[in-house]
Amino acid sequence: MGNKMPERTCIGCSTKRPKKELIRLAKVDGNIVIETTAAHLGRGAYLCSSNACFEMAAKRRMFQKTLSIGLDEVGVEFLAKEFRAKIRLVGSETNA
Ligand SMILES: [Zn+2]
Repeated sequence: MGNKMPERTCIGCSTKRPKKELIRLAKVDGNIVIETTAAHLGRGAYLCSSNACFEMAAKRRMFQKTLSIGLDEVGVEFLAKEFRAKIRLVGSETNA
C-alpha cells in the first residue's frame, strides 16, 4: 500500500474518498463538464457516483458555490442527466 491516495471531498455528502472513486466536475469555458478522469485542469468539484449525492449538492447549490458558476434549474437538470449517464457508464454504485 504505502503511498497515500489523494483524497477529495464529495460536495454532496461531504465524505472524503480517494480521488479516483469520485466523479469530477470541471469548469470549462463557463460550462460544467463531467469527467471520470481529470482531463481538464483548473477549478473542479467532486461527487460520489451516486444520485443522492448529486441531489444533495444541487439542493445546497454546491455546483454554483464550488465552481463559481451561474446555473439555473434547467442547467442543473441538464447536468443531472449527464451525471446519471456517466455513473451508469462507471457502473458500480459507491453507496452501500
Ligand atoms: Zn457523496
